[in-house]
Amino acid sequence: MRILITGGAGFLGSHLCDRLLGDGHEVICMDNFFTGRKRNVLHLMENPLFELMRHDVTDPFKLEVDQIYNLACPASPVHYQYNPIKTIKTSVMGAINCLGSGKRVGARVFQASTSEVYGDPDPSVHPQPESYWGNVNPIGIRSCYDEGKRAAETLFMDYHRQNGVDIRIARIFNTYGPRMCPDDGRVVSNFIVQALQGKDITVYGEGQQTRSFCYCDDLIDGFVSLMNQEAVIGPMNIGNPGEFTILELAQKVIAQTGSHSKIIHEALPQDDPKQRQPDINQAQKVLGWEPTITLDEGLKPTIAYFDKVLSEGS
Ligand code: NAD
Ligand code: UDP
Repeated sequence: MRILITGGAGFLGSHLCDRLLGDGHEVICMDNFFTGRKRNVLHLMENPLFELMRHDVTDPFKLEVDQIYNLACPASPVHYQYNPIKTIKTSVMGAINCLGSGKRVGARVFQASTSEVYGDPDPSVHPQPESYWGNVNPIGIRSCYDEGKRAAETLFMDYHRQNGVDIRIARIFNTYGPRMCPDDGRVVSNFIVQALQGKDITVYGEGQQTRSFCYCDDLIDGFVSLMNQEAVIGPMNIGNPGEFTILELAQKVIAQTGSHSKIIHEALPQDDPKQRQPDINQAQKVLGWEPTITLDEGLKPTIAYFDKVLSEGS
């Protein structure tokens, strides 16, 4: 197949490029390089099945493809809050442009949605199933991302109902691994970089808020499996149910890096969700998919990657 990946030069997008090329497909990687980097796909430039396209997903495009994975969108709070108007435009107009393309050429379209659609979940809904409508602040500093992704899901469902576009929606929970941006402000990259540099580890609040961390290889398996499963129209959670407090993550990173960094506490950002854990029953039942890599295992290659990046000074 010929497959378009928007946001293909980012962290997850570049792993997806590797996977799809490895499976023998032709890949068009579209990116505006806001948070993605050419170095993430540099090793693919000589591959005749790979094409890199500098393009902003908010601008219309015409491409003849069989499948579209729409990943274009800054993902870390620091990056998506940098230009919030552009963030929501990217989600909404990016979805419209991908769905319009899918409609025109009959391509199946996949949306990289997020657990952020659940907002700060009600404690009685834990773990979060796909049926939960969420608890999202529509006017806060995270809204440009959360509401943008929610509107994108609406567009996906409406293009399916109104125009018969074949869609897939993955709700991704916090995912980490090599090729994350060292300065994107996300918790895994922050803690590892701080530990490797012997700087204080910045735990926001008491560190009792939880997240469930999925290693990138597991996630990409889930993506490809969902995309190629017939007739799965609604959203599906893809994530690792292993749930940790942010303090536990800090302790794991310190232990694995052997760092002498100490933990300090900083103010908790506005609207920071208190807990997050995917209910992956649907993915297990429909796709036969579940993650296989524990946080302890996945941190190893991730730390090795950041160690290399920092020692190269890049
Ligand atoms: P990332 O920032 O590394 O990748 C996003 C990519 O999109 C970058 O390459 C960036 O340059 C590109 N991009 C941004 N705006 C664009 C635009 N207007 N036009 C074209 N390209 C644009 O982040 P990631 O972690 O790889 O996330 C990929 C997707 O997965 C995002 O849509 C994100 O919302 C979603 N997601 C990720 C996580 C996670 O934990 N990593 C969790 C939930 C959802
Ligand atoms: N966090 C932290 N220290 C940091 C970065 C993040 O304590 O240096 C916390 C943040 O407040 C949140 C969690 O880690 O509770 C996950 O943050 P991240 O930005 O990675 O993703 P989110 O799930 O909030 O989108």
